[in-house]
Amino acid sequence: PARSARTVTRSTCCYCGVGCGVLIESEGERIVGVAGDPQHPANHGRLCSKGRTLAETARNLHGRVLQPELRAQRHEQRRPVDWGLALDTVSARLADIIERHGPDSVAFYISGQLLTEDYYVFNKLAKGLIGTNNIDTNSRLCMSSAVTGYKLAFGADGPPTCYEDLEHAKTVLFAGSNAAYAHPVLFRRLEEARERDPDVRWIVIDPRRTDTAAMADLHLAIQPGTDVALFNGMLHHLIWEGWVDADFIAHHTTGFDELKQLLRDYTPRMAAEICGISAADLITAAEWFGRSPATLSLYCMGLNQSAHGTDKNLALIQLHLATRQLGRPGAGPFSLTGQPNAMGGREVGGMATMLAAHRDITNATHRAEVEQLWKLAPGSLSPRPGLAAVELFEAVRSGKVKAVWIACTNPVHSMPDIARVRDALQRAEYVIVQEAFRDTDTVPYADVLLPATTWGEKDGTVTNSERRISRVRAAVPAPGQARHDWWIVREVARRIEARLAGPGTGPMFAFDTPAQIFDEHTALTIGRDLDIGGLDHARLEADGPQQWPFPSGSRQGQARRYADGRFATADGRACFHVTPFRPVAEPISARYPLRLLTGRLRDQWHGMSRTGRVPQLFAHSPEPSLHMHPDDAARRGLKAGELVRVASARGELVLPLEPSDEVGSGTVFAAMHWSGQFLSSGGINEVSQPATDSRSQQPELKHAAVRVEKA
Ligand code: SF4
Repeated sequence: PARSARTVTRSTCCYCGVGCGVLIESEGERIVGVAGDPQHPANHGRLCSKGRTLAETARNLHGRVLQPELRAQRHEQRRPVDWGLALDTVSARLADIIERHGPDSVAFYISGQLLTEDYYVFNKLAKGLIGTNNIDTNSRLCMSSAVTGYKLAFGADGPPTCYEDLEHAKTVLFAGSNAAYAHPVLFRRLEEARERDPDVRWIVIDPRRTDTAAMADLHLAIQPGTDVALFNGMLHHLIWEGWVDADFIAHHTTGFDELKQLLRDYTPRMAAEICGISAADLITAAEWFGRSPATLSLYCMGLNQSAHGTDKNLALIQLHLATRQLGRPGAGPFSLTGQPNAMGGREVGGMATMLAAHRDITNATHRAEVEQLWKLAPGSLSPRPGLAAVELFEAVRSGKVKAVWIACTNPVHSMPDIARVRDALQRAEYVIVQEAFRDTDTVPYADVLLPATTWGEKDGTVTNSERRISRVRAAVPAPGQARHDWWIVREVARRIEARLAGPGTGPMFAFDTPAQIFDEHTALTIGRDLDIGGLDHARLEADGPQQWPFPSGSRQGQARRYADGRFATADGRACFHVTPFRPVAEPISARYPLRLLTGRLRDQWHGMSRTGRVPQLFAHSPEPSLHMHPDDAARRGLKAGELVRVASARGELVLPLEPSDEVGSGTVFAAMHWSGQFLSSGGINEVSQPATDSRSQQPELKHAAVRVEKA
């Protein structure tokens, strides 16, 4: 038969927050190739190993969910059903539970991998129609400490920086970021900038000697969790030497004197002792940071996934504020987003602790604004913040939440202490799972499984780490009975609306396309810090990806924020906060004497439901392992490749041992990707612990106390 013509579709990579543009090549209903988009400003045609192999993840439909399935009783097998029955059943069960137990008896757990339009409809269903704020996302595990850090310091969420700053920075500080693996295309841009200008210096703060750290001019291998002491010590030194910008502090900030009071104790010697590094190295880092013409800090999970993640973010941002290292090319604090659309999710307010367009649930004016824009009766929106990820599954476990709808994420792999999550889903009255892939650890718990489309089949937008909104486009039609996430939610919402909505309520889910959903979303942003009233799908089509803010009448978005020294707080001043150092949530003990660190591999993505389908992506790290310093392994009589049991107070798993001097003595490391598909247990979150930051409610996935012994 004649071959179909080859079509090229411009879209965006579905993995990390770099947000690279891709060109998808398709023939008929098959994706046959992927190349980097030379016109996309994030990557200028580059792709990393994950992006380059995207076509292979879409090559066949093996392992896809292609038809709705449901079961009437928990002990039964799910059986395939048509969409009409699936949607009627889901909406009837949810409406029934809401009528019996109230709106807060249902919860949604969604994903930073959903498109902005999907996120918007989920959020409107939960908060606008049902009246619960119990909608959280796996972004809680990823970026929520960065959100609270930005809001407390600057008055609004979102980084002040842009990718062009990578090329302008003279000092680059990586904090808790292995960008060489987790954000490879940005890392390549940084490498090229340093090749062009050998005076550029890199400081890497990481307990492990990662590939990023191995390339640093100065690697500070601090003890896990001591970042705040380090930043406080650096700021102490900068104040002592007079290298802070006193004029900027006086006219553009508040709270500095209180912080200065605290910092008296953080002499470089004292701080260095806490961190387990030399005072000379701490002073060098402070000087490179404060005296550089432009210092850019790149930070990620090492700061965020912590019981003190907000303070870690604040202490780093405060270094930038005190030295005015922000608001100009190459300078500023820059949180690297983990997931492809964690930013878009924050923009629509798709989390338990926020409302649309960076509004606050606890702010009556903000609630009234959203009620008006959604045409809801005054007082309709719940003033109670919803349950954040860890407490959400605890509430399912305790029976407070009866029904949970999980979409595009795999909490039975990615949540801390997953035995409790499994227990929660077993006890739940009703579990809805909306997924593209059949083999995730969460799917077996589904009472109803709804087949969703995925990358290459979907249409909408995502926002990357630099606040840039890009189009995601479908290259091939939806396979089998799979449907778009926003469509599934809309169909359930319309059915629930018909049953629950009061008299006089207009149709809330009248949209038929992602472009119409985007328009509704942009209307909610007008006048807010992230105003994108000047954008719609047509504009993105014509002019390509754009950064926010982009108010109506704009010709282009804003590359850098706060350049004029005015911040998004009520008085326009940035805020310093008192940030005392506090140790990790779970100290080591005689029973659990080793510090477990977790992180990412270069060629895998999260739970591997997609990258795990590509054989060549296993070449770099073929199997799971536990890294242990050779001296620690020898002391325990453990040899390379031997199976060891890693146990914490919560659970255990068995891994092959890999002696490695990338970790210091007393510390072990395991990648977070391997899950039940590849291991007899659920992965490293069998042992991780669920302590959370009190402000961001992000769990401390990066650190746990463990013991290691022969299996
Ligand atoms: Fe995709 Fe991130 Fe790699 Fe770019 S850097 S190709 S967005 S995984």
